[in-house]
Amino acid sequence: MSYDKCVRCGSCLQFCPMFDATGEEQFSPRGKAYLLQVMDQIEDDEELAKEFRRLLFECSLCGRCEETCSSGVDLLRVWHEQRAKAIETHPEEFAYLEPLKDALANVKNIYGLAAEDRAIYWLDELEDEIPGLADRVYEKGKTTENIIFLGCLMSFRGSQIPVLRSLFQTLEKLEIDYLVMGAEENCCGHPLYLMGNEKGAQELREHNKKVITAAEAKRVISCCPGCLIQLREHHNLEGVEALHHTQFFDRLFEKTKKYDQKEKFSYHDPCELHRILEIKTEPRSLIRKMGIEFKEMDLSCCGGGGLLRMTDPNLSDKIIQLRVAREGVKDTTVITACPSCREQLLGQDLKTKDIVELLSETLDGGAD
Ligand code: SF4
Ligand code: SF4
Repeated sequence: MSYDKCVRCGSCLQFCPMFDATGEEQFSPRGKAYLLQVMDQIEDDEELAKEFRRLLFECSLCGRCEETCSSGVDLLRVWHEQRAKAIETHPEEFAYLEPLKDALANVKNIYGLAAEDRAIYWLDELEDEIPGLADRVYEKGKTTENIIFLGCLMSFRGSQIPVLRSLFQTLEKLEIDYLVMGAEENCCGHPLYLMGNEKGAQELREHNKKVITAAEAKRVISCCPGCLIQLREHHNLEGVEALHHTQFFDRLFEKTKKYDQKEKFSYHDPCELHRILEIKTEPRSLIRKMGIEFKEMDLSCCGGGGLLRMTDPNLSDKIIQLRVAREGVKDTTVITACPSCREQLLGQDLKTKDIVELLSETLDGGAD
């Protein structure tokens, strides 16, 4: 058990957004590793064990603790394993997750909306502006080089429409051969993976794999780092490259036109993108190719991951509020590349743009 290796040095404390937001040791990685060690010694303290199970879901799974730990405690794996064990052994304590699990089992999306509605909202909104968009929706028999996996957030939330508009306009402008998975897309399985429900996640992934294979795609492209973790690491896609949209577009340009910059920008790098997927270069490279000047924000967390928005929305809000105040970004537009981070930033009334929105604007009106 790798948590045995925790020597309680405390290096992880200053990097943990949960400890930052609460100031309480039991929310920190060190505190939780200590509780695990204690519980191994005292096996029948049910009250302590119950509190630990609750605390496991008071975590955004940002991975900063694991990155910091010089004793080599693979903390993310510990949190994943312990979450799976907690839900399996004490499902009654996690009844609040049941509606989400039911929605994923029945209609394969996190919102419990009809599966066929995945390509309804954004298509209604955008098809007049982007001629031929309806033909870009995958149906049996259609094939493509590049298949776009939108994920639940981008498929269903109106706040994501500007990103989708820019994504599709850019693909059209560059004459890319692409299809969108649309109603044939299942949730990628990430929410179930975050609960440690591998079986449920695998059922969702199998259908996606079938569709991607039937479409004969060479690449599956997603704007969502959570979906990309699932596509790249857990879908077993043979001969299909799974790419973040910033990777896909960065490859296409040596240099773009110059962005007509009238505002101050900062860059919030999504945890799952840079820390879990280790995609750090391409988003920055693409921003720089547009000649955009921006301030790097500290590599910290928006508070929107790890199911924390469900388990403790107040703490999730507090994490982003502290981040925004500390970084002094209220008067800037925060660039990001993750639909979940976007939701967190919009929730604080911040101006935010996905990198593809900047690219679309640059291709349309940038200077040569
Ligand atoms: S950095 Fe590692 S060893 Fe140090 S307290 Fe945190 S988990 Fe324990
Ligand atoms: S994953 Fe992030 S929020 Fe969770 S314990 Fe580690 S540093 Fe804290």
